[in-house]
Amino acid sequence: MRKKLFIPGPVEVREDVLAKMATPMIGHRSKDASALQRDISELAQKMFYTKNQIILSTTSGSGLMEGSVRSCTRKRAAVFSIGAFGDRWYEMAQGNNVPADKIKVEEGQATTPEMVDEALATGKYDLITITHNETSSGVMCPVEAIAEVMKKYPDVIWCMDTVSSMGGTKIDVDALGVDICITSTQKCIGLPPGMAICSMSEKAVNAAKEVPFRGYYLDLLELYNYIQKKEYQYPSTPSLSHMFALQYQLHRIIDEEGLENRFARHLQMAQRVREWAKTYFDLFADERYLSNTLTVIKNTHGINVGDLNKQLGEVGLTLANGYGSLKEKTFRIAHMADCTLAEVDELLGHINRILGL
Ligand SMILES: *Cc1c(COP(=O)(O)O)cnc(C)c1O
Repeated sequence: MRKKLFIPGPVEVREDVLAKMATPMIGHRSKDASALQRDISELAQKMFYTKNQIILSTTSGSGLMEGSVRSCTRKRAAVFSIGAFGDRWYEMAQGNNVPADKIKVEEGQATTPEMVDEALATGKYDLITITHNETSSGVMCPVEAIAEVMKKYPDVIWCMDTVSSMGGTKIDVDALGVDICITSTQKCIGLPPGMAICSMSEKAVNAAKEVPFRGYYLDLLELYNYIQKKEYQYPSTPSLSHMFALQYQLHRIIDEEGLENRFARHLQMAQRVREWAKTYFDLFADERYLSNTLTVIKNTHGINVGDLNKQLGEVGLTLANGYGSLKEKTFRIAHMADCTLAEVDELLGHINRILGL
């Protein structure tokens, strides 16, 4: 039986969006390809609230995370980790011989402006990475407050992972001053996995110019320059299938649903799941920093999450177990992309029935 996904990526993809993936091919050096990629860039700029150049990458989000830390760290990176995906960014730095330090907090907690200030005051770093929405713990970091601190350090490049939040909650890239903001297609945007999107500021471009070894496929400076010179085209063949679907979906998100409505729907779903979690279990994350796009629930009853998922599968639904070491200790409900409040209610109703809550 087909299972409706309440996991934090890949998410359910609407039938009309899926159908766009089957659009007949066009040449990737054609005028049509330039027009497609220009339209996607202009739409993505609206969703990111930025005037910065948009770069697409035929990789998942991790590709641009690796590319950004490698392409733009001149001296040393401060990697702020609040869980599994922050740890991944640190491993990417190490794997690329990029000097980096990891500044980690207990899972369930957020990166705070004080931590950023303390690290940057040492003068050791010229790039920071922040996980906006940590998908393993359900924490959303207080980025507006972090942005205030960042004003004191105008030479530091700010890279931000918004893989599980962009398109589900407002992230005003230019107001915050984020230099490289990264997301993937398979989470809040509601597309199949296989493409990543980022914005890149002039400041980040200038930083990359000072870095001699930026790799090849994920060299952000090369991608940026190529787009500028070749009318939004890419050095190698991109996933045009994703681009057809992305163009269609961004028009739907921006022109049909409206960004503000989309963010409000995500918040409504989050509030519903949080209330339910507090009634029957408990929230894993510090309540000051709850994610609007997924909820991580503390397994206070010691239920067998694997068994629960098996039984949910019988009615065509599936949620996510905890991530890594949090498996069985927590479980996760994603309420992102085109999921509705009614669908969330249906899921919660089935959980209550199965567990006899
Ligand atoms: C899913 C996820 C990633 C990894 O993204 P991929 O597209 O799978 O490479 C990174 N960071 C966060 C916060 C995520 O949720």
